[in-house]
Amino acid sequence: MNTHTENHPFDYDLFVIGAGSGGVRASRIASQLGAKVAVAEDLYLGGTCVNVGCVPKKLFVYGSHFHEDFEAAKGFGWSFDNLKFNWETLRDNKTEEVERLNGIYDNILGNAGVEIIRGTARLIAENTIDVEGRTITAKNILIATGSWPRKPNYPGVEHTIDSNAFFYLEKLPKRVIVEGGGYIAVEFAGILNALGCDTELVYRGPLFLRNFDEDVRHFIAEQMQLKGVKLSFNTQIQSVAKQEDGSLQVSVGSAEQNEVRVVDSLITAIGREPKVQGLGLEALGIEQKQNGSIVVDDNFQTNVPGIFALGDVIGRMQLTPVALAEGMALARHLFNGQAINMDYENIATAVFCQPNIGTVGYTEARARELNYSLEIYKSSFKPMKHTISGIEEFTFMKLIVDKDSRKVLGVHMVGPDAGEIIQGIAIAIKAGATKEDFDSTIGIHPTAAEEFVTMREPVKE
Ligand SMILES: Cc1cc2nc3c(=O)[nH]c(=O)nc-3n(C[C@H](O)[C@H](O)[C@H](O)COP(=O)(O)OP(=O)(O)OC[C@H]3O[C@@H](n4cnc5c(N)ncnc54)[C@H](O)[C@@H]3O)c2cc1C
Repeated sequence: MNTHTENHPFDYDLFVIGAGSGGVRASRIASQLGAKVAVAEDLYLGGTCVNVGCVPKKLFVYGSHFHEDFEAAKGFGWSFDNLKFNWETLRDNKTEEVERLNGIYDNILGNAGVEIIRGTARLIAENTIDVEGRTITAKNILIATGSWPRKPNYPGVEHTIDSNAFFYLEKLPKRVIVEGGGYIAVEFAGILNALGCDTELVYRGPLFLRNFDEDVRHFIAEQMQLKGVKLSFNTQIQSVAKQEDGSLQVSVGSAEQNEVRVVDSLITAIGREPKVQGLGLEALGIEQKQNGSIVVDDNFQTNVPGIFALGDVIGRMQLTPVALAEGMALARHLFNGQAINMDYENIATAVFCQPNIGTVGYTEARARELNYSLEIYKSSFKPMKHTISGIEEFTFMKLIVDKDSRKVLGVHMVGPDAGEIIQGIAIAIKAGATKEDFDSTIGIHPTAAEEFVTMREPVKE
C-alpha cells in the first residue's frame, strides 16, 4: 500500500527520527517502496553501530589482537625486534573508516530518495515534528533514536569517560579500570589489556555477562585472567578524585574492604538507556516503561496512532541486526501491506572479547527453567595453533540438547572466531537441527569447529 499521493495533506509519508541502524533501514526500504521519506539526524549518519559501537569496536579488537599474534608467531619460528604500537594510528585510521562509512550512508539514503534533515527532531503533536524551528508533518512517524551510555552517580564521575569517548581517547592509558559487567565492558577490557594497558574490570555483581550460559561466563573469566585482565567482582566504585599529575584515585569497595586504585583512566560501561530525552513523548502521552524505553505492540506501533518506534529505544534486543530487521519489517508493513512477524527466537550473538564468545539458542539454565529434559555436551581443549604458539588459551564448546525431540536447543562457544562459527550453526538451529543431524555431519579437519559434530558423550547428570 503506497500512502503517497499527489495531493498529500502531509509533507511526508514517513518521517524517521534517527539515522542509525533501524532508522536508515526503515527509511531506505520505505522510500524504495514509493513512500516520500525524510530522516532527521543530529549527530552522525549510521548511528551508534557505525560511529561508537560495533564497527570501531571490532577494528580495535583486530588492532589489539596483533600483540598476541606477534607473540604466537615466535613459536612458529618468527623473530623480530623493535615491535611498537602507536595508538594514534589505530584511533585515527578507525576514525577515517568511520567517516568513509558516514559518506556511504549519505549516498545510500540519497540514492534511495530519502531526504536527510540535519538537526534534533522533537514531536510536537500527532503527525507533527519540529526540527530546530522547522515544523514538518508526516502521516507516519518512526522513533529510532537508539540508546545512550548510562552514567554512574558517585562523586567524581565527571573524571570518568563513557564508551563514546573511549573511541576517541587522546592517549592510551597505562593503567585503566573498566566499570561494568555487560558485553561492552568485557570487550573494552579485552582490547585495553591486549594493547598492553594494566587493565582491571570492576563489576558490582558476582560474575559478568549475565544472561549468557553459566559455563561460558566462568570459562571466559578464566581466559581473561590468563591473559592478564584483573577481574574484581562484587566490587563497587565509590568515588573518583583527580590528582595533580592527572591520574585518578579510585575508591572501590567490596564486602571485605575498601581499597584505593590509582589509574590513568576510568571507562564506564554500566549499561545504556533509551535516548528519549527532549523527544516530547510525555506531551503526547506516548507510553514508556519505567526505564524510559518506548512501549510498542507487535507492529512497532506506540499507543499513539501513526507513531512507531523500534531498535534500541524499545529495549528489546539491543543489536544492530535486530534493529535492521525491525526497520525492514515496519517499512514493508506500512508501504507494502506485509504482516510483521519479527521472530526474536534463536538470534545468534557474539562477544568480541579475547577469545570470542559465540552463542545461539537457550542457555542451560533457561532450558531447565522451561522444563526441558536435557542432554548436555561439553568440550574444552587447547586449539591446535596454541600447541606450539606458547599462548595459554583454551577453547570451550557446549551443546544443549532436548532429550525428547533430540533438537539442539543451544550452542555456545568460547574460542577464536566463535562469532564466525556460530553464525553458520545458527542456520542449523533455526532450521531445527537435531543432535543426530550434528552427528551425521562430517567435520572439516583440522578445525576447532569440527568438535561441534564430534561430541559423542553427554556429561553425566
Ligand atoms: C560499544 C558498543 C558496541 C556494540 N557492538 C555491537 C555489536 O558488536 N553487534 C551488534 O549487533 N550491536 C552492537 N552494539 C549495539 C548496536 O550499536 C545498537 O543495537 C544499534 O546501533 C541500535 O540501532 P538503533 O537504530 O536503534 O539506534 P542507533 O544506531 O543508536 O541510531 C540512533 C540515531 O538517532 C539519532 N538521534 C537520537 N535522537 C535524535 C533526535 N532527537 N533527533 C535526531 N536524531 C536523533 C542518534 O544520533 C543516532 O544516530 C554495540 C553498541 C555499543 C555502544
